Amino acid sequence: MIEFQNVGKSYDGKNVLSGANFTIEDGEFFVLVGPSGSGKTTMLRMINGLEAPTDGDVRINGRRVADTDLRELRLNTGYVLQTGSLFPNLTVLQNIALIAKMKKWDESRIEEQARELLDRVGLPYDQYAQRMPADLSGGEAQRVGILRALITRPDVILMDEPFSALDPLSRTQLQDLVKMLHEDFHVTVVFVTHDMSEALKLADRVCVVHNGVIEQIGTPDEVKNHAATGFVSELF
Ligand code: ATP
Repeated sequence: MIEFQNVGKSYDGKNVLSGANFTIEDGEFFVLVGPSGSGKTTMLRMINGLEAPTDGDVRINGRRVADTDLRELRLNTGYVLQTGSLFPNLTVLQNIALIAKMKKWDESRIEEQARELLDRVGLPYDQYAQRMPADLSGGEAQRVGILRALITRPDVILMDEPFSALDPLSRTQLQDLVKMLHEDFHVTVVFVTHDMSEALKLADRVCVVHNGVIEQIGTPDEVKNHAATGFVSELF
């Protein structure tokens, strides 16, 4: 369970987030949606300790992130960014193996898991494991980025606009894939997007953010059909 308790954030005296109060349940697909600069990435980065709140607390399973061993936390929290986050000088397999190696998995276990996962996401191991990132399409590279985050079965995966640079078809395919992996792995997903249709398609609950303030949290149906504020209704 991830809790935001009256969380605020300022940079150089400028307030970018205030009064964030909500709980993300285990196994939930929680989507932060809002325009550019609304504070979504800041909230996401507070979950793995890359940003610290100026006010309030973020807690994971009751424990303040501020009191947590951050290396341990980050090893147990997958993080997927926009395309381009693979290490260009490492093969697909070496990229996927990074976190597993830090967790001291042995080579045979890594290879077995990588084979299973690559095959499962439509990138046959024998064709893809030794390729370099430059020889992948944007959609293929994002699949690898997702597997890198998933291979060690973290409790939580953070995804920051992971599909925004993809063409519409790849985007739809990757959305379907992430939905499937979320269901199969029972992982908590916190997903950032500025695209409301993507949020409605993926989320168990949507959190609409605007200018650092949470406008509404609800199921896709609630947000779409019972907008809590003028801003939320304008999004449709
Ligand atoms: P986008 O969709 O464009 O990534 P966002 O909703 O994720 O936007 P954030 O990246 O969280 O928004 O940024 C919120 C505000 O905080 C913005 O005004 C941004 O300029 C500011 N900000 C973020 N990081 C820093 C930083 N390290 N130093 C100063 N200001 C920052």
